[in-house]
Amino acid sequence: MSSSRVLVLNSGSSSVKYQLLDMRDGSRLAVGLVERIGEETSRLKHTPLTTGESREWTGPISDHEAALKAVSEELTRDGLGLDSPELAAIGHRVVHGGLHFTEPTVIDDAVLAEIERLIPVAPLHNPANLTGIRTAQALRPDLPQVAVFDTAFHTTMPESAARYAIDVKTADEHRIRRYGFHGTSHAYVSRATAELLGKDPADVNVIVLHLGNGASASAVEGGRCVDTSMGLTPLEGLVMGTRSGDMDPAVIFHLMRVGGMSTDEIDTLLNKKSGLIGLCGDNDMREIRRRIDEGDEQAKLAFDIYIHRLKKYIGAYYAVLGRVDAVAFTAGVGENASPVREAAVAGLEALGLAVDSELNAVRSDGPRLISPESARVAVAVVPTDEELEIATQTYALVNGSRNLT
Ligand code: ADP
Repeated sequence: MSSSRVLVLNSGSSSVKYQLLDMRDGSRLAVGLVERIGEETSRLKHTPLTTGESREWTGPISDHEAALKAVSEELTRDGLGLDSPELAAIGHRVVHGGLHFTEPTVIDDAVLAEIERLIPVAPLHNPANLTGIRTAQALRPDLPQVAVFDTAFHTTMPESAARYAIDVKTADEHRIRRYGFHGTSHAYVSRATAELLGKDPADVNVIVLHLGNGASASAVEGGRCVDTSMGLTPLEGLVMGTRSGDMDPAVIFHLMRVGGMSTDEIDTLLNKKSGLIGLCGDNDMREIRRRIDEGDEQAKLAFDIYIHRLKKYIGAYYAVLGRVDAVAFTAGVGENASPVREAAVAGLEALGLAVDSELNAVRSDGPRLISPESARVAVAVVPTDEELEIATQTYALVNGSRNLT
């Protein structure tokens, strides 16, 4: 039997998420997570999809190497070991690929060096991604390892969208520009939206709203990204679970000069203690809706600020695209929170946008339209699947074809 399995690894600073997929049909064979790596109470949760019965384990896992070995042992118990000849490749999520990586890339020493060179623009993510790659290489040195970059889909943005209006020399010296993130999701969802409409992605303009704990919007013209809301880092753009999104940059000078705060304190404030959690103390949309239903004014204001920003981006990307065929909601909030979808589109009838409240209330795991049949622009819920996209791109690259057959 030819090799048809791909292991997808998403390595964070203290966690590894993984999925093993069978690329003959894109099905999952196993999924799991190791968290709190380096602590006494590391936790491994492994679920083989053959039985669906999870196994959990808590104890010290000292580093990524130990984590991947533990994962490998769990997979072996299910007959899915990493030493199997059926494993075709390992696909790694890499957060920052800068301008260099516009496509998924087979990892060699030069690729590792370039990911390392990008650490100054992704200080939290790229070191963890590198550790994951090196560990996997040590475990299976003979196997192709592929990097799939969060930024790659956005490298098609024109300079007019990607550049900040700051001194060009300074910007270039420090590689300051808008890179965008969540690209794997935006790529997958924009394509899946075209499929839902029964059209070729090349003929469809889509506004993708990836609303998870992190959140970003993108304008996709004929399958190519022409603008996205995250920038040099994931801090720019929409109001998120814990990030502020757009803000006058002078707030930072003010906090330093008048508030006496340090760079690190402001970084933590804007990335971890702002957004929904900063506005109302909760970053889970379910909890926020529950509080609103109980008449909580603070939660209501947080929701309104979140929606106001979202609506501004829909309007902005409508203008950027000129013609919009679909608006697609995805990720935890986008897929589940019908009040967010309804409020984001409310009042935009003149733009051809509307939501049918009955369709919007339907709960389902599949892609679906929620706009009335008569609407000029389709509004859709399209569940994202970043792991499948990473596996598909990885498998296509190692098999020399771009299509999953
Ligand atoms: P990330 O990958 O960025 O961590 P997800 O895409 O998993 O985030 O989204 C997580 C968020 O989705 C949660 O913080 C919560 O706000 C929201 N969410 C998840 N399920 C629901 C639901 N049933 N209703 C409303 N919001 C939900």
